[in-house]
Amino acid sequence: MGEGVGCMSSYTICIYCSQTDPTRFRSVEHVIPQGFGRFGSKTPTLGCVCDDCNDYFGRELDQLLTRDTHEGIARYSRGQLSSEARPQKRLSLTLADPAEAGDFVGLRVAVDGTTGQLMPFIAQFHVHNFSTGKDEVYFPRQIPGLILPEANYGMPGTNGEKATWRCKILAPSREAHDAMVEALQHAGIDFRPETSFQSPWGSASGQPPSFLVEITSEVDKPHKRAIAKTLMNFVAFHLGRDEALKPRWDFLRRYVRYAEGDIKARLSHRPFWTGQETQQIRFQDDSINLRIENLDGNVVGAVQFYNLHTYEMILIENDALYQDQEIGGRYTAGKLPVLGKKRPV
Ligand SMILES: [Zn+2]
Repeated sequence: MGEGVGCMSSYTICIYCSQTDPTRFRSVEHVIPQGFGRFGSKTPTLGCVCDDCNDYFGRELDQLLTRDTHEGIARYSRGQLSSEARPQKRLSLTLADPAEAGDFVGLRVAVDGTTGQLMPFIAQFHVHNFSTGKDEVYFPRQIPGLILPEANYGMPGTNGEKATWRCKILAPSREAHDAMVEALQHAGIDFRPETSFQSPWGSASGQPPSFLVEITSEVDKPHKRAIAKTLMNFVAFHLGRDEALKPRWDFLRRYVRYAEGDIKARLSHRPFWTGQETQQIRFQDDSINLRIENLDGNVVGAVQFYNLHTYEMILIENDALYQDQEIGGRYTAGKLPVLGKKRPV
C-alpha cells in the first residue's frame, strides 16, 4: 500500500484527460513533485494520471516549480538538490543590498542546483526597455541574433549626441568584458563603453564574496497551475479517484491540464495550521503543507512550501465538500506524511 493507493480500481482512467487505454499508464504521477523529496515509504503517487499527462506535467509544470520559483530555490537550502546546475530562467536573483553592490546594482546571479551555492557570475549586458519600463539582462549565449529595436530601447551608442540607451556591461574579468563588447558589435549592436572594465570585487578572481541575494519572481499562470496541480493530485490521492472524476473538479483539472480559465488565487502570510500556530511559533519550517477545505461558500485549497507565503486558491466556487472531505497534510522530506481531517468546530 502507499503507492498509487488513491487510484486503485479495476479499470484505468486519467483524472486529467479521461484517457482509458491501459497501456498508457506505465508511469506514476508524484502528488508533490519529486524534486521536493521523498516521504519515507509513503511518498504519495497516483496511478490514475496517464503517461501523456505525466510527461506534460513533468516538462511544463514540475521543472518550473522545482527549479525556477521561489520555493524551488528554497528547497536547495533544505538539502533537496537538483541533478542539474543550469541557471534559473524565470527568476531574477540580484544583490540585495544596493550599497554593497556598488556599481553592480542589478547584477544577475544564479544558484547551482546541485550544490545550492551561488554560481560565479558570468558577463551580462543590461539594457533598459523603455516600452516595458524594465531593465533586461542578456548573457553571452543570447547576444548572437539579438535585436534591440530603437522604438523600445532608444538610440544605441554611448558617445553620440542622440544616444538614449541606458545600458551597461557587468563582467567578472576584463577578458569577459571585452568579449561581450565584441559579441555585441558582431550582432550589429553598436555598444561603445564609456568606461573601461572595473573589477567588481577589487580582485580579478571573478569569485564574489558572500552576500545576500534578493530573489524576484512573478507568480504567473504556469506557476499557479503547477501549484494547483499539487492540490488536484492531493484530492485524487486522499479523497480518491472517483471523487476526483466528479464534474465539480472539471474547472480545476482543465485549468491544470489545458490552462483553461483563470483560478482565483491569493497569497497569505498567516500561520498555516491556525489554532495551533502563531506568527512566532510555527511547525518546523521544512515542510510542505496542503489543505482542502470549505471557506466562504467555496472549496479552497491552500499550499505552503516551507515557511514561505501560502497560496490560497478557489478550487470550486459555490460548492461545499462533506466535512470528512476537508483534509490537510504535512509533508517533510525523509519523514512519513502527517495527514488529518478537519475536526468539527
Ligand atoms: Zn491524461
